[in-house]
Amino acid sequence: MDSGAPQQLLVCEYCDTVYRRRRLARGEVAECPRCLCEIERYQWLNPAVLLALILTALLAFVQANIFPIVTLGLGGQQNSVTLWGMIVIMWREHAQVVSVLTAATLFFFPLIKMSLLGWLLWFARLGVRAPGFARLMVLLHYVNPWTMSEVFVLGALVSIVKAHVYFEVVVDPGIYAYAALTVLITLFSGVDLRDLWELPERGAT
Ligand SMILES: [Zn+2]
Repeated sequence: MDSGAPQQLLVCEYCDTVYRRRRLARGEVAECPRCLCEIERYQWLNPAVLLALILTALLAFVQANIFPIVTLGLGGQQNSVTLWGMIVIMWREHAQVVSVLTAATLFFFPLIKMSLLGWLLWFARLGVRAPGFARLMVLLHYVNPWTMSEVFVLGALVSIVKAHVYFEVVVDPGIYAYAALTVLITLFSGVDLRDLWELPERGAT
């Protein structure tokens, strides 16, 4: 029944124990009995579907950054600000730590993650490894913890709560684009990309 002949052996990336591979059923997760770490997870999304999701997320990301996310009331003035507007204001208002945290969790890390995934999946869809594959997969591994939806949502909450100290805050449409983006980012964090290692190098055939 095996189609495409997946590799027969599986190595635990935490303790290097080698296992014979078994095809997983929907919803199944393979755990290493030695160190109890997850070594494989059933893949329910193929690269083409994932790529479509990444493009959707990028669109939401662009909208989230173009539309104002909040209207700030300051001294009788009403100002609608975008995410970057807010980051700059917080920096000027001596909330530098929150400003940097917001820029990192709501802008840079999601953008890096989506770009990396988009690049890797674009080639995966064609059945090959993307240029720079190994290095980018390692980079993605390090970026991942910083784009987890919890961090993402926390960044938004912290910045809005913190902004309340300085301004009167009313939410705007951009925040809904961020909400949609959060849902998509949550989806990606459950995606197992280890299968991509089985793809051949470009021009290897
Ligand atoms: Zn292990």
